[in-house]
Amino acid sequence: MILIKKAQILQNWVKDQRNNSTKIGFVPTMGALHKGHISLIEASKKMNTYTVCSVFVNPTQFNDPTDFDKYPVTIENDIQLLEAAGCDILFLPSVNEMYPNGFSQNQKYNLGNIESILEGKFRAGHYQGVCMIVHRLLDIVQPDNLYLGQKDLQQCIVISKLIDTLGLNEKIKVTICPTLREIDGLAMSSRNMRLTKEERKLAPSIYAALLFIKNNMEEKQPPELKKISSKMLKDKGFKVDYLEIADFSNLSSINNWKESKKAVVLVAAYNNEIRLIDNLLLS
Ligand code: AMP
Repeated sequence: MILIKKAQILQNWVKDQRNNSTKIGFVPTMGALHKGHISLIEASKKMNTYTVCSVFVNPTQFNDPTDFDKYPVTIENDIQLLEAAGCDILFLPSVNEMYPNGFSQNQKYNLGNIESILEGKFRAGHYQGVCMIVHRLLDIVQPDNLYLGQKDLQQCIVISKLIDTLGLNEKIKVTICPTLREIDGLAMSSRNMRLTKEERKLAPSIYAALLFIKNNMEEKQPPELKKISSKMLKDKGFKVDYLEIADFSNLSSINNWKESKKAVVLVAAYNNEIRLIDNLLLS
């Protein structure tokens, strides 16, 4: 694996590899890698000549400075995992490299309603920050295929919209990969590293609340199921930001199963200080 820290060097490398049949797969991450991230590398390796992974904790997508300061950094381990997975390039830029002109946003991305619901409602400016960094990364890497995790479903929709608005949808194909879970159902996440033993024991309750909805769809409609499963989480001590049943394509909320052919339940909840998110396809 080649480690590259400078955008210009990566751009030159990409240019040198390009010919008619070269395919470049790209996996953007914030590091503290786990098997979920590695599953995206594996998906990319199957379909591309080269796989590029970026590790960059993007300051502009954190609405909470403490969350940014405490975001886990495990770069030695990340390098080992990526080497073992057969990743070709690790892009590990500095903040200066990614934001040479500072953080002020000279382009506001028009994302429509998707940026103000669910995560967007509780994390002001988050998706504008995501778009700033993904736009910059796409400019540098110029991938043919982009691999994202369903774990961050709303982010997948936002990035697909970004690619649309940049006129890149003919050039870049987005693949959404399934969420990898621990044996007890907890969705793998870099933030899980910050859970105490006690919090870790409670954390699978989030998946249990989602499964409860999936298992009771035939008996009950969304409003009642949302109420019951939110209460299940609150009773365990979670602070629930949202627990919503929505249409998979645009994440607009549904009140009756008939309103959507493909429904999904999405949740964000605090386990003490650690905010966890998850979602589960229902149909
Ligand atoms: P992050 O480092 O959290 O920004 O995540 C980088 C990419 O990995 C995103 O596309 C995530 O959706 C994806 N990802 C995170 N957790 C998982 C997981 N448990 N399973 C599959 N993909 C994941």
